[in-house]
Order: sequence, then C-alpha cells, then structure tokens
Amino acid sequence: MLPMLAAQAAPGADQALVSALAGMVGAGNVLADFPDRLAASRDRAPIATFAFRDGLVPGVLPRAVVRPGSREEVARVLAWANANDVPVIPYGAGSGVLGGAIPLGGEIALDLKRLNRLVAINATDGLATVEAGMNGGRFEAAVEAEGFTCGHLPQSLHMSTVGGWLACRGAGQNSTRYGKIEDMVVGLCAVLADGTEVEVRPAARRSTGPSLRDVFVGCEGTLGVITEATLRIWKRPEAELPLVLSFPDIAAGLEAGRRILQAELRPSVFRLYDETETVPRVKELADFGKGRVLAILVFSGIERLAALERDLAGEIAAALGARAEGDAPYRHWLAHRFESYSPPWQASGHFMDTCEVTGAWSALVEMYSRMREAILDLCPAAHFGAHWSHAYPEGACQYMTVRLPPMPRAEGLALHARAWDLLQTLTVVMGGSIAHHHGAGLLRGPWMAAELGAGGAAMLQRIKDALDPGNILNPGKLGLRPRASAARVMGEG
Ligand SMILES: Cc1cc2nc3c(=O)[nH]c(=O)nc-3n(C[C@H](O)[C@H](O)[C@H](O)COP(=O)(O)OP(=O)(O)OC[C@H]3O[C@@H](n4cnc5c(N)ncnc54)[C@H](O)[C@@H]3O)c2cc1C
Repeated sequence: MLPMLAAQAAPGADQALVSALAGMVGAGNVLADFPDRLAASRDRAPIATFAFRDGLVPGVLPRAVVRPGSREEVARVLAWANANDVPVIPYGAGSGVLGGAIPLGGEIALDLKRLNRLVAINATDGLATVEAGMNGGRFEAAVEAEGFTCGHLPQSLHMSTVGGWLACRGAGQNSTRYGKIEDMVVGLCAVLADGTEVEVRPAARRSTGPSLRDVFVGCEGTLGVITEATLRIWKRPEAELPLVLSFPDIAAGLEAGRRILQAELRPSVFRLYDETETVPRVKELADFGKGRVLAILVFSGIERLAALERDLAGEIAAALGARAEGDAPYRHWLAHRFESYSPPWQASGHFMDTCEVTGAWSALVEMYSRMREAILDLCPAAHFGAHWSHAYPEGACQYMTVRLPPMPRAEGLALHARAWDLLQTLTVVMGGSIAHHHGAGLLRGPWMAAELGAGGAAMLQRIKDALDPGNILNPGKLGLRPRASAARVMGEG
C-alpha cells in the first residue's frame, strides 16, 4: 500500500516553509516527513478510509504538520500564514467523521495536541479551564480525580480533543441530562485568521449583543482556532440507575421518550434501538419478544431523586406497552461504550458510514420509515439500522448506520454518495437538521444551503469573508467557498 501512497506524496517537503515555521515553534515541532504528513492527511471520515484501504490519499497531503505549544505560537503561525497566503487546517485528534480535517491543496496542519494542560478547576463555580488540544479521556480523568465529571462523554472520548468537541458542536452519551458541548461552554480563547487573539471571558450569562462565543463553537476551524475553553463540570453522580425496557415498536418507544422529556424528567442516557439494532443487544434475554425494540435509560444524580425519576419514567413507558427487561444490555453498553465498531467492516471492503440527524418527535416515525425504505430500495443488500439518543423536549437525534456490501470502488462510492443524498434530502424535507453532532466538514457541504436557507448560507459566507478575507482557515469546509486550487476528494458528494 505504501508505495502507491508515496507516489502521491510528491512534491517533497517545502524547505522554505519548514524553516519559517521552525522559527516560530522550534524545529522539533515542524514535521515534514512523509509518514507525518500522511497521518495528518485525513480524519476518520469513511470516505477517507475507503481511499486509504485502496492505497490512496483522500485529498492531498498537508505541506507540513506544525505543533504550536501555546496560544501565542498559534497566533504567530496564523499571522504568518495569513501574510503568506498559506492555508491552515486546525487538527485535534483527527476523529472527525465528515472530512473536516482533509487537506484540499496547499494547507499546513496545525496540530493542537501540545496545548494539553488542564489550566484550572474552580470547584466553587463548577468550572474547568482546559487547553483545546487536551485528549478528552485525559480531561475526564483529571476532573474525575477532583470528584467531578465533565458530563461530555462521546463514544470517541479517548480519541478526540476538547477543542474538537467544541469545533464540531459535539454530543456526549449523557447529553440528555447535561446538554451538548454548546450548553457546557462558558468561556473560550481563540485566534483569528490574522493572528488576533480573542478571549470570551467566562460569565454565567451576559446580555451584550450576539454571542461571540458561538462564532467559534461549531466553526470547524473555518472562523478561528480555539485554544482554550472554560466548561461546566458536575459533581460525580451519587447514583446511576439503569432502566432497561422493551416496547412493542419504535412508535411506542418514541412516544415514551417524548412524554418522559416533556414531563421534565432528565435521564442522563436515553437510547432507543430499532429492531435491527435491538436483535444483537438482547441475545442474553431469553424471552425478549420477537419484534419488540430495546430502550436503555439511565437516571443519575442524587440517589433518591434519580430513583424517583426512574420510577416515574417507568410508569409513563408502561402505559405505552413497555416491559421491564434484565440489565444485561445496559451492562454490555457500559462496558463497550467507548469502542469503535467500524474497523472490521471497513477492512472487509464494506462501505460503512453513519449519519446522525435531528428530528422533531412529530416527524421521527415517518422520517425513519422513509429513510429505511429509501436506503433498501437503493441497495436491497444494504444493512440499515438506527437508534435514537440525545433526546430533548422537542425531538431527538436519529443515528443511522448504513453498510453497503463489498463492491468495486467506483460503484460503492456512487451508491454511498446517493445514500447520503437520500438521507440528507429527506431530513430537510421532514423539517429536521442534517447534522446533530458530527458537524458538516467536507461531506455535508452540498446540503448546507438547504439546511441554512439561501439567506443563512450567504450570511455565513459573509461572516467568513469578514473574519478571514484570505480564506486561509480550513477553506472549503462547512459548505463555504473553497480556494481556487482545491482538489476534489474521492467520494465527496
Ligand atoms: C468511533 C467514533 C465515535 C464517535 N462518537 C462521537 C460521539 O459520540 N459524539 C460526537 O459528538 N462525536 C463523535 N465522533 C466524532 C468526533 O469524534 C467528534 O467530532 C470530535 O469532537 C472530533 O474531535 P477531534 O479532536 O478528533 O477533532 P478533529 O477530527 O481533529 O477535527 C474536527 C474538525 O474540527 C476542527 N478543529 C479541531 N480542533 C480545533 C480547534 N481547537 N479549533 C478550531 N477548529 C478545530 C478541525 O479543523 C476539523 O474541521 C465519533 C467519531 C468516531 C471515529
């Protein structure tokens, strides 16, 4: 595989660029050898994996990987890049799944993992200040050591950075209680394309015009580089009480979700699986009824309160035909909750991807059946499974796995692109959002105008043009204008 990849690596490292960067961050922190550039040439987007397994780079290699060690060094690198028209891709841990970190032409990768310190814990105000490149698992371990949890526990906890969470507007598995990352961030520091440093001081709330913080949260590196964040942290819960249920069908399960959330109960975890995703999870439950679907809820916090919430939710669910089941599916989920299950499927030649969207309670049942039907019409041999997690009083995230069987690359990529188009178009038709927590990156660019509306998309582009007139910050992502020289990425919609 490597010789094919190496053949695409030309031209070699740009010595003038390497020396200029070395002058800002130290020679040891500029990596320009082929393996380092190769490692930063992609994230975990399946389209990139499809290319890699065939010995190809999805886009192009970055010209170099630069590793600043402080906010000042980030500012210096950006000021220089802006002055010299060198595009820059902020790079956290590369666990993004929409191609947000894939270079399209001429970029340097700004690897933020040296910004990895827990700056402070303020136990009185329940806040932690952390540098953006800190690994998520290490951050959680550090706050746990002080008796807290950060409350943001994505499946990718150990393979992502705090800055990546913010840049993508991520969601953790306990989001139904603690919220998404945008609900947790109270302040941040960022650097603009020209090197200007911006600090949004942590404050409980403010009323001073539009939120500058929200310019950066979800910007996926296109509007600035987040260098530090102050996040809410929470006392580690006294109890975590599971409630494992089965429902006659997904309509009953979703209706229970709606009633539970609208009754102002706040499970930390709410997961309802369709029949396809239920079957492998209930193997240990001998008398789990055929056709029934599984739900795992967890109630946490002060034990007496959590127990009351669990019992009330159980009553709401029972009225909809729910049955209490054994704890085995909960224990299995708990033990494997941070594992990635896609590598064996990708390695065996499948075209596997996931797509998470947001839907209103009133739309979810129809949204699911139309999407399932559309995918199975497109490819009868496809696997389609879904679950609903991250629930709100008004709706929930529908998280779908689509697995196309092994086939020649061109055919697989065409079907994969068509599957994405079906899912994203149907989401918009059904009034949902095309992305709940993975971000837009490169892959979702074609549907951003439908998501934001023509006026909204034009406004986002104007904000980008005003903050980054040279278009050096992660160009061509989030549906924003690419640079003239941008390469097309294999499999891009
Ligand atoms: C197996 C698996 C499970 C996953 N589970 C979840 C999940 O449960 N919940 C969830 O929300 N996501 C999940 N993801 C997606 C991914 O982990 C998240 O989007 C994560 O937040 C990305 O963080 P990262 O540090 O790896 O970012 P990267 O992949 O390095 O970057 C993502 C994007 O953000 C930009 N960026 C990164 N850091 C910064 C910064 N400091 N400032 C500005 N821009 C920046 C990059 O340029 C890029 O556009 C999962 C991914 C995988 C592979």
